[in-house]
Amino acid sequence: MLFSDRSQQSHLSLVSASDGGLTRITDDSQLIKASSDDFAPFQRRFRGYDPVLSYRESGGANFKSAPGESEEACDRRHANIANYQLKTVTSRPSKALVGKCFPNTVCKPENLSNDRKLSQSKRTANIVSFVDEMDPTSRSVRRVLSSAEPNKNTQSRQVSQSYSEASRPNSTISSRSFSTMSYSWSGHSSLTCTSSGTGAAETSGRQCCTGSEPRPAASRDSAQTQRKSPCTASDRPSSPQSSVDSCSEDLSNLRSGRKSAASRLKKDKGCLAGLNSYLSNRKKKAQKEHRRKERKKLIKMKPHRGDIFVKIRSYVRNLVWGLPLGDPTAASHLGTSGTYRAFGTGPQSMADAMSASGRTTTPPPNGPGERALYNKAEYAGRKAVVCSPRRAAAVLVLVFLAVLAIALVAAFARPACLPSTGVVGPTTVAPPVATRPTTADGEPFPWDSLRLPPAVLPRRYELLLQPNLTTFAVVGRVKIQITVTQETSFIVLHSRNMTITKRELHTSDDSVNVSITRLLLYPERDQVYLSVNESLQLGQNYTLSFEFNYTLREALEGFYLSHYTAANGSKRYLATTQFEPNAARAAFPCFDEPQLKATFQLAMVRHESHTALFNTPRRSTADLDFYLGAGIKQDDFFETVRMSTYLVAFIVSDYAHISDTTDGNVLVSVWAPPHLVQQGQFAAQVAVSVLDFYTDYFGLPYQLPKLDLVAIPDFAAGAMENWGLCTFRLTSLLYEPSSGGSAIQQWVTRVVAHELAHQWFGNLVTMEWWNDLWLNEGFATLMEFIGAGHARPEYHMGQQFMLEATLTALALDSLRDSHPISVEVTDPDQIESIFDTISYSKGAAVLYMLMKELGQPVFKAGLNKYLRRHSLGSARTADLWAAVQEAAAEAETPPAGDGPPDVQAMMDSWTRQKSYPLISVVLSAGRLTVRQAPFTQLPAVGARQSDAPLWHVPLSCRLHRRAGLLAVRLNGTASVTVSAPRQSAWYYCNVNKTGVYRVTYPADNWAALQQLLLAGSSHLSVQDRAAIIDDAFSLNRADLLNASVPLRLSTSLSREAGLAPWAVSRRHLDWWLQLLYDQPTHAPLQHFVRRLIAPQYGQLGWSEQGSHVVRRLRALVLAWAVSVRLPEAVARARTLFSDWRNAGLPVPPDLRQLVYSTGVEYGDTGDWQFVWQRYLNATTPTEKNSLLRALGASTDPLILEHFLRISLAGELVRSQDFVLVVESTAANQAARLRLWRFVRLNWHKILDKFGGGTFMIDNIIQELVSRFSTQLELEEVRAFFDGKDLRSASRSLRQALESIQLNIRWRGSHQAAAAAWLEDWSRREAAGAAPPTARHWPN
Ligand SMILES: [Zn+2]
Repeated sequence: MLFSDRSQQSHLSLVSASDGGLTRITDDSQLIKASSDDFAPFQRRFRGYDPVLSYRESGGANFKSAPGESEEACDRRHANIANYQLKTVTSRPSKALVGKCFPNTVCKPENLSNDRKLSQSKRTANIVSFVDEMDPTSRSVRRVLSSAEPNKNTQSRQVSQSYSEASRPNSTISSRSFSTMSYSWSGHSSLTCTSSGTGAAETSGRQCCTGSEPRPAASRDSAQTQRKSPCTASDRPSSPQSSVDSCSEDLSNLRSGRKSAASRLKKDKGCLAGLNSYLSNRKKKAQKEHRRKERKKLIKMKPHRGDIFVKIRSYVRNLVWGLPLGDPTAASHLGTSGTYRAFGTGPQSMADAMSASGRTTTPPPNGPGERALYNKAEYAGRKAVVCSPRRAAAVLVLVFLAVLAIALVAAFARPACLPSTGVVGPTTVAPPVATRPTTADGEPFPWDSLRLPPAVLPRRYELLLQPNLTTFAVVGRVKIQITVTQETSFIVLHSRNMTITKRELHTSDDSVNVSITRLLLYPERDQVYLSVNESLQLGQNYTLSFEFNYTLREALEGFYLSHYTAANGSKRYLATTQFEPNAARAAFPCFDEPQLKATFQLAMVRHESHTALFNTPRRSTADLDFYLGAGIKQDDFFETVRMSTYLVAFIVSDYAHISDTTDGNVLVSVWAPPHLVQQGQFAAQVAVSVLDFYTDYFGLPYQLPKLDLVAIPDFAAGAMENWGLCTFRLTSLLYEPSSGGSAIQQWVTRVVAHELAHQWFGNLVTMEWWNDLWLNEGFATLMEFIGAGHARPEYHMGQQFMLEATLTALALDSLRDSHPISVEVTDPDQIESIFDTISYSKGAAVLYMLMKELGQPVFKAGLNKYLRRHSLGSARTADLWAAVQEAAAEAETPPAGDGPPDVQAMMDSWTRQKSYPLISVVLSAGRLTVRQAPFTQLPAVGARQSDAPLWHVPLSCRLHRRAGLLAVRLNGTASVTVSAPRQSAWYYCNVNKTGVYRVTYPADNWAALQQLLLAGSSHLSVQDRAAIIDDAFSLNRADLLNASVPLRLSTSLSREAGLAPWAVSRRHLDWWLQLLYDQPTHAPLQHFVRRLIAPQYGQLGWSEQGSHVVRRLRALVLAWAVSVRLPEAVARARTLFSDWRNAGLPVPPDLRQLVYSTGVEYGDTGDWQFVWQRYLNATTPTEKNSLLRALGASTDPLILEHFLRISLAGELVRSQDFVLVVESTAANQAARLRLWRFVRLNWHKILDKFGGGTFMIDNIIQELVSRFSTQLELEEVRAFFDGKDLRSASRSLRQALESIQLNIRWRGSHQAAAAAWLEDWSRREAAGAAPPTARHWPN
C-alpha cells in the first residue's frame, strides 16, 4: 500500500497498490484509479526506478549499489525502498484502511497499518517511515500521527509532528521542536498550528500550514515566541507582509488591556495574527494553568518522601537532563512554598522554573552537553527537580522511538549496501554460545546432552491411540517397559508438541508405585526429564506410563494429517506417520534413538468407515460402541519384532487395496485411495519380484508376514521404509501405463526396490547412530539398481547406476563445501542435513566400487555375514568391513590383483574423507605412471600439498594392443608406476566407470580417445563413452582442461545411440547454454547442438516404439531438440499440443511432458489456462505432475507471477509439489529472475511452510540459486541470505554459492576458447564437411 501526500500541504491522499491495482483518494474523498502521474513524485525519489516494482522487487535487505553508485547514495536509496517494502509487507489492501480512516472516522496509526501481528510501536514506526517518504519538501522529516477526536464540522484531526529539518536550505528546525496542528482532509477548513521548539534557529509555526517561505533563522527569543503562535489555514494565501500587518492591527487593539499578551504577539513578527486564534490560545493556556494549579494542590496534600510516582519522575528527569538522583522532597527548595514546578522540555522551561523559585539564572546555552553541565551546576544543591508526568511520558516515547529507529536502520540498511570485497568463499558464522539448557519456565534442565542417558533401556512399548478424523484430536496412552542398566534417580526420554496429562512409574509387576517427583521439558531437544523419589535399581524392570493428547496437523512428520479428493469430489482425510529421523517423539513419548530398539504393540481406535494399518497384521477388532459411541472400533495388532522407533508406522484411512503373495508366502498389498488403487498393480508386481530376489540375495528371509505399500497424498520425501508398512508419494508408487512414460515406470521400480532393500539394511540391522546413516541409504541406493535390474532386465540399470549415482556424486563431491560420507552428528539439524546426495549416491558408488573390486560373490558373502551377525540389532560401519574382510579371506578364488585388499583401510579412505582423487595417467616408454591428487573444482583454501588426502584406489586400464585389463592399485600412495606395452596408440582407465574418481591424460591421449569415440570402437563400453565425456567437461569446469576438448568429444554424439553419453552431454551442454544465455557465443553453441542432435532426431522419430532404453533416449533427444529450437521439433510438438487441446487426441505417455511444456511455452494465455484446468481435474498423479511442470514453462511474466503465487498458497497445489513448480520455473530462462524475486519476497512464507523439511528448502536453493552466473547475482544471494537461519539447508546454500563462483569463473576463463572452437567448427562445416550420420552403438 502506498500513501501519497500529493498536495504536500493540507490534505492527504491515499494510493493503494494491492494486487497491482492502484487507487488514489482524491481531495473530494473519491476513490479513483490512479494514473502514472500520481507516482511522479516517487519516481523522482527512486531516480528512475518504477516505485511500485522497486518496493515489490527489492526483496528486503538485499538491495545493492548500482554500478557507479556511491555507498552513501545506495544507503539513501535503499532506505527509501526499505520503507516502501516495510509498508507493503505490513499493510493490507486499502479498502479496510479507507473504511477505518477516511474521512469521518478516527485515523489512528494502527488503522493505517492494520497488521495485527505488528506491535503498536512498529505500526507507528511504519507510519513514520511512510510519512517521511511522502513529504518531498523535507530531507529528513519525522512526523508522528496521533489520533484525536474528529471534529464533525471540519472533519479535522490532530496530527502531531516533530520536524527535524525544514525544506528550505536556509531554514532549519531543531530536532526537538514540537508543533500541533488541526489537520484537514479536504483542505478548506481552518488549520491551526502551535509549535514549541528550542533550536538555534527555527522556522515559523505557520510554515507547517502554508508552506510559505520561512523566515530566516531567528533568535532564541523569537523562536520561543513562535512556538506558541497560532496560524490558520485561511492565512495560507497571504504573504508574510500582509500577515504582519494583520498582526500589528490586532496588537494595537490588544495592547491597552493585555499588555503581556500583546508583547508576545509583537515579537511574533512572522506569524499570522488573528484575534480568534490568539484568544483561543489564551483560553487553552488558562486551562493549562488551571490544571497545573490543581496538580500542585494535589501534590501538596501528599507526603513527598516515599512517593514512588514522584521518584520515577525524578529518575526520568535525571536520565534526560543528567542530574543526579535526588530526594524528591528537595524540590521544595525551589520555592519558598515547597511546591513542585513542572519543567518543560527545554532549558527555557527550566529557566522559568528557576526564575519562579526566586533565583536568578542565566539562560542556558544551546546544545545538550552544555545544557546538562549548566543544569547540574545550577541544581546540584537542590538534588532534584521534577517534571510533569506528561513531559516525562513524552521523553519516554521519544527515547523509545529513537531506539526503534536505530533498530530499523540496523536491520534494513546495513546488509543492503555491503561493499563488494571481491573475495569468494563461504560465509562464516560465529559458533553458538554454549548455554546450559533450561525449560520453557527458565528452570535449569538437569540433562545436558543430545543423546539420552544409557542408564535406562526400553524393551517394549504398548501403545493405544484414538485419532479423531473429524476433530483431528488425538488422545493416547503408552506403557513403556524399561530395564535399568545403571542405578539412577532420573529418566530422560523424548516428547514433542504434546500435552502429557498423566505419568506413572511402577515396578514391572505393578507391585510398587515409584513416585515421579518432577517432570521437566526441554523443547530444544524434545527431552523430558523425570526425577523419582528413590533410585531405580540395577537390573530391575519398570513400567513407565504416559497419557497424552495433541492435534493432528498437516505437518508431513510425526502422526500427521493428509487428505485426498475422492472420485465424487468429496474431501477425505487420513492420518499417517513419518518418523525418520526423529519424529516418533511427536506421536508418543519414547526413547527416540535408532539403537534403542524395542518391540511395539498397538491398539488403534477408529471409526468403522476407516481402516487402521500398523507394521504388523491386525490380530483382532473389538466394538467400542457401548463406550465411545456408534461405529467406533478398536483394532489390536500383533507385537512387532525388535526395531527402532523411527521405523514404527500407523495409518488410519478409508483406502482400498490390492494384494499379491511372494514365493516366501509374504502378503504384499498396495493401499491407495479407492479410485486409484488399480494403479498400484505395477508396484505390487515389482514388490513381489524384488522381495523374493532379496531373500535370496541376502540369504535371510523377510521377517514379517506381510508388507504394505501405501500411497500418501502429502509426503515430504519420495518414500519411507517403515518395517512392513512402507509409505510412498503417490507418484512413487502408482503407475498408469496409459499416462505414465518409461521414465515414470522406472522410477516406481527403483523406489520400491530401494524401500524393500531397507527391510534388511536398516530395519533388520540398523546403524547405531545417525553418523552411519550412509550405510543404510548408500546400501539401499545400490540395491535399488540391482533389485530393479532383476525385476526389469530391459532397463539396463548398469549404465543408469553410473548416471544417477556415480556421476551425480562426483559432481557434488568436488565442491569445497562437501562432507565425508561418514560424519559426526552432534545436533538435530545435522541429522536432517546428511540425508543428501553424498549419503545416498556416493555411499552407493563406493559400495559398488568395493563390490567390483572384490567380485560380487565375495561381496554377497560378506553382506550375509554382517546381516546374520547383527540381525535385529545395531551395527557400525566397521562391522560391515570386518564381515566383508572375512568373506574375502575365505574366498576360494581371490579377487584380481595382489590378493584381497585391506577392506577397512580402503573404505575408510573413501568414507572418512570428503572429495575424491583425480587420477593422472601417463604412458611413456613402456611405463604407465599413475598419480593421485584431490579433485576440487575450486582450490582448497590454505591446503598444503603435503597435507593432501590420499585414497586406496583400485584402477583398471585398457590399453591398445593389450589383451585384458591392466589392474593398478594405489594403496594410499601418491603415485605408482607399472610396466605397460611400449607401443600403445591410446589407453583408457577406470573401465566401465566403476571407480569413484576422475581420470585425466596428456593432450595426445585425449585426442586419441576422441578418435576412438568417433570411430565407434567396440573397446569402449557405453559407460566408458559417457565417462570420457563427463570427465572432460568436469576437468574443464575445474579449470584443468581447455574447452575445446569436451567440445571435440561431443561431436561423437552425432554417431551415438547410447542413453548415458547423451544424458551426460545434455547435462553439460545445457549448463553451458544457460551460462551463455546473454552472450554472443550462445547462438553458435545452440547451432552446434542442433547439428549434433539432427541425425539421431531423424532416426528416433516421434512414434512410441522400441525398447525401454530407446524410448528413454527418444524422450531425451526430442526434449533437447525443442529446447535448442530445432524448427521441425518445435513445430511437431506444437502440433501434438494443438491436437490434444482441440481434438482431444492423447499424447504418447513418453512425450507428454515435452508436448505440454512446448504448448505452454509457445502458447498464449488460453493454452496456459487449458493446461491449468487439466491439472486441476487430473486424477492420475503422474499426469498431474507432468501438467504442473509444464505450467512453469510459460514466458508471460504475469502468468508466471500468478502461477507462483497460487502454488505457494497451497490450496490448489499441494505443498509438497511446490518444489516441482520451483524446478520447472528455475529451468525456464525467461522466468528465473522473476522466481528469484518471488522467493525473496516470500521467503518467510516459504520458510514457514517448509522450514522443517530438508528436501524442500535444499531443492529450492539448489534449483534456483546455483544457476546464477554473475558477480552481481552472487552478491545478491549472499546479501539476501546473510544472517538467515537456514538450519539444515545451510550447507546447500554454501554449495550453491560455490556453484555460482564456478559459473562466473567459467564465463571469464573458457568462454573465449569455446567461442573460438565453435567458430572454427562452423567454418569447417560450411566448407562442406559431410553431415554426420547416425549409427547404433552396442549398449
Ligand atoms: Zn532410503
